[in-house]
Amino acid sequence: MKFSRLAEYFSKIEKESSRLVITETLAELFKKLSEEEVDKAIYLLTGRLGPLYDPRELGLAEKSVISSTIQALSVDRSIFVKRFKEVGDLGEVLQEFKEKGRQQLLWAPKDPEIIEVYEDLVKLSKAEGEGAMSFKINLLSSLIQALDPLSCKYLVRIVLGKLRLGFSDMTILDALSWFLKGDKSLRPIFEKAYHVYPDLGKIAYLAKKGDLKAIERIKPEVFTPIIMMRAERLSSAKEIVEKLGECIIEPKYDGFRLQVHYKNGQVKLFSRNLEDVTFMYPDIVEGVKKEITVKEAIFEGEAIGFDPHSGSFLPFQETVQRKRKYDIEKMVKELPLKLFAFELLLFKGESYLEKPFIERRRKLEKLFKLTGDIFKDTVLLAPEIITSDPEEIELYFEDAVSKGLEGIMAKRKEGVYKPGVREWNWIKYKRSYSSKLEDTIDCLVMGYDLGKGKRAGFGIGAFLVGVYDNKSDKFVTVAKIGTGLTDEEWREMKKRCDQFKTKTKPALYDVDKNMKVDVWVKPAIVVEILADEITRSPVHTAGRKLKPSKTGAALEVDVPGFALRFPRLVRFRDDKRPEEVTTVVEIREMYRKVKGKSKKEKL
Ligand code: AMP
Repeated sequence: MKFSRLAEYFSKIEKESSRLVITETLAELFKKLSEEEVDKAIYLLTGRLGPLYDPRELGLAEKSVISSTIQALSVDRSIFVKRFKEVGDLGEVLQEFKEKGRQQLLWAPKDPEIIEVYEDLVKLSKAEGEGAMSFKINLLSSLIQALDPLSCKYLVRIVLGKLRLGFSDMTILDALSWFLKGDKSLRPIFEKAYHVYPDLGKIAYLAKKGDLKAIERIKPEVFTPIIMMRAERLSSAKEIVEKLGECIIEPKYDGFRLQVHYKNGQVKLFSRNLEDVTFMYPDIVEGVKKEITVKEAIFEGEAIGFDPHSGSFLPFQETVQRKRKYDIEKMVKELPLKLFAFELLLFKGESYLEKPFIERRRKLEKLFKLTGDIFKDTVLLAPEIITSDPEEIELYFEDAVSKGLEGIMAKRKEGVYKPGVREWNWIKYKRSYSSKLEDTIDCLVMGYDLGKGKRAGFGIGAFLVGVYDNKSDKFVTVAKIGTGLTDEEWREMKKRCDQFKTKTKPALYDVDKNMKVDVWVKPAIVVEILADEITRSPVHTAGRKLKPSKTGAALEVDVPGFALRFPRLVRFRDDKRPEEVTTVVEIREMYRKVKGKSKKEKL
């Protein structure tokens, strides 16, 4: 298939707001693609060259893309840059200039195949060292010459790392089912495979071959990250015992989660959002190599900063300083990390996902040769107690909190590891849950309003945030935040938002007309929000239910949505993907807890 055909699909999907139509459109596209093309087309649709964990990145700077354009179209730089400043979207401006050139018959597009464009982009991502910049500019310039205006628009968004067509990976899985069966009935099979092997390209390739058996047989593999299991939450030891009975309790460390893959001396580390972060943590890589006892394993743990002088753990704000791309060696010395292992997913080549937790835990203990000395080892085992006594749990919790930790994790002894799923097999009990709403909520930034008065200088006065509704696969709003940020934070917010701004409301957003914003932002930025309370509001769409009005003219609010009272920004959560933000179900549970409402009440 020609890339220009694919660009037409990009455009159709981008304009569409119905999830069902997007699913059908994708299914139609999969039908038309060949086996060789389907994976590449999917990566391009997601704005990448491979799955999420593929470290190859395009992310060219705007400056370089402008240089390529100038070279390709022989246009005046100042005219082009002026127009870009007016429009704010390089893809669109390029499309406009190419259209003009086409009318004057200046360029006859070569109309390359998807595979040709993809291969050029791979070359672009690989170029490094001396001369890499001019190589990239030349290559992109010839691509711009070869492609038609619409294709150019999307090509540029891809190379800038800014293509967000507005659908989730789950929609692609639905579309694969639709492609094979004309309905969504195969989605559970695809989803299960995706959770242990989150490579949409590979799954699509097998679907294209019609090899459903192979998809069902997909197993975890070392060096392919598994989507991580998530925890439910409760706010007392009593509730935990009621839910789990005798269970395993571990401290909850407030650092960041790593999934460690090891085979024959090679280590790879993956973050929660499946990024390959091996290069960032050479101390952990060394520690694993030194301390592991088998040839092949996948395990998980929480990395946390440790101060060898005081012998205490560092708060999250300090630990995250280690998430950086530069000055890594310096940071290793200044801020050493400890990795507390708590999960085993694969042992000597055998998948442990289906085994009960107690078995995984016992094997995990055999995975390392450890002295148990925090000053000597880098990898340590998360300690545990096994109990069904709420008092003992409460004491363990208090103890953890007094050590500066976040709280505890309670784990079902017989629970299996369910990739990508939030389950009662794991329950978190954090220090802030015990009283009113002091727990934080992870939200997606959906758009912002331009500033008025003093704020006009920042160009941002308030931002709209939302949570995720699993049922509808949409983002729904819970707050518009206009206070509580430092000047520095406002600037940072504006900068981040502008990288993902878009003219129209993304299809995945469900927003009341009263909550519209001046600038929409594509699903990309996750923030952690602290609020005083969850209240109800008819203008927020999280958990809101509508019914036909008496006149029948329009829908009216039946049950108001959930809203946050006094919301404020805690931090940016770069480690979470948009779909990983707090869900409506969780918000409803938190609301219920604080208000002491029963399950029967209409919420
Ligand atoms: P939260 O991010 O608040 O949803 O809490 C779940 C996270 O707690 C996990 O993703 C881990 O990063 C972290 N965590 C810290 N200690 C543990 C532990 N002992 N077991 C499991 N997860 C832990």
